[in-house]
Amino acid sequence: MGLDLDKLVADAELCVRCGLCTSVCPTYQIFRSEIQGPRGRVLLYADYAQGLVPESEAKLVLEAAYDCLDCRACQSVCPNGVKPGEAALDARVALQGGRPKDRLTALALSFFYSPLLIDLANVLIVLYQRSGLQRWVRRSRLFERLGLVKLAFAESLLPERVAPALRLFGPKKLAPEGEKRGRVAFFLGCVMNLVFSEASRATVEVIRAVGYEVVIPRETTCCGAPHIEEGDLEGFERLAMRNIDHYADIDADFIVTDCAACAAELKKYARHFRNDPEYREKAERVSKRVRLFSEFLEQAGLPENIRFPFPTTHQHACHACHAQGVKEAPELILDRVADFAPLAGSTDCCGSAGVYNLTHTETSMRILEKKMARVAETGAEVLTVENPGCLLQLGLGARRFGPRVEVKHLSQVVWEGFRQATDERI
Ligand code: SF4
Ligand code: SF4
Repeated sequence: MGLDLDKLVADAELCVRCGLCTSVCPTYQIFRSEIQGPRGRVLLYADYAQGLVPESEAKLVLEAAYDCLDCRACQSVCPNGVKPGEAALDARVALQGGRPKDRLTALALSFFYSPLLIDLANVLIVLYQRSGLQRWVRRSRLFERLGLVKLAFAESLLPERVAPALRLFGPKKLAPEGEKRGRVAFFLGCVMNLVFSEASRATVEVIRAVGYEVVIPRETTCCGAPHIEEGDLEGFERLAMRNIDHYADIDADFIVTDCAACAAELKKYARHFRNDPEYREKAERVSKRVRLFSEFLEQAGLPENIRFPFPTTHQHACHACHAQGVKEAPELILDRVADFAPLAGSTDCCGSAGVYNLTHTETSMRILEKKMARVAETGAEVLTVENPGCLLQLGLGARRFGPRVEVKHLSQVVWEGFRQATDERI
């Protein structure tokens, strides 16, 4: 499927230059320049799409598209339905011909085609941590001393304890607690499975505890989010079609994921394949059953006696609140199970944004430091979020800038609340 350049032009034509979007754009707030804001970016993409930018300047357009975090905060406030975040992805695809921009990116993206490689990487991380090697590498600042600055930064993102992958070591099926209310297919995300399996274990336990049978298909592949973020339309479609082929006819009432980016992409499949005669209906059958964990749980309901004993605040993943409009559900859940302390600016990006923290580290850290200062104002001891990239970034934020909050997935807080209730019964 090709890219419609007219879409980039149509977006710019809808823009009335009101500037509402600039007030929420993290990069505009830092740099105060139009080219670092939504309004300027959509105009630039439209100029490119109309052939008004000389080929020699195309690199600058691509740079502008990659300077955008794709957080979509601008889209949530735009009164005219302009979509600068999505336009940044379209521009990347257009300028790169739907393929990765270089060999290194292509190699990195190829990692996501193989669930086996992700599982293997998880085993290596677990060994790296449990052998004490991580402690030594961090204490000796080995990567910094070798001049491997990006690797040192990537390593610093790792949480202190990574659990063995759910795909390799977890159950394939879980029976519901009490009377069966339905069946859920749990979608294993790549980074969740790689680094946050413990959180995904909590997710499936909660789904089971509210009366749903859970199946965890091993055939799941990456949703394609990393590929579309990098302008690799071909890679995105290849992975999307594999997931659609597997999930279209799966026997499940809902397809639940605890990764906001996965939920956003899976829901997008129907729109993306709407003109494809072979995949249109199959994609619809997938997208309409997809729920983010909090969205599912809010609909399913929670028993009254669930109680998490620590003051907790919540950061909304951009892919939850801006890309899917899932905002109330996590707050309602936390309000019920914990002493919920609302976070000012909870829908502002934390600066993770796919690999933005790796490619634009300085800007990302400025955004993160501001976020952590807001977290400190809440007085919470626990900070929750529903996306693996944000979990990595906020974990680093707590270690680097403070406060010393525990960063957890929302499902872990709910599951601990369930366990607390069980202990009280005993
Ligand atoms: S809020 Fe929408 S219409 Fe207003 S300047 Fe931004 S993109 Fe244009
Ligand atoms: S998606 Fe985020 S970073 Fe990009 S233009 Fe919109 S608000 Fe700014």
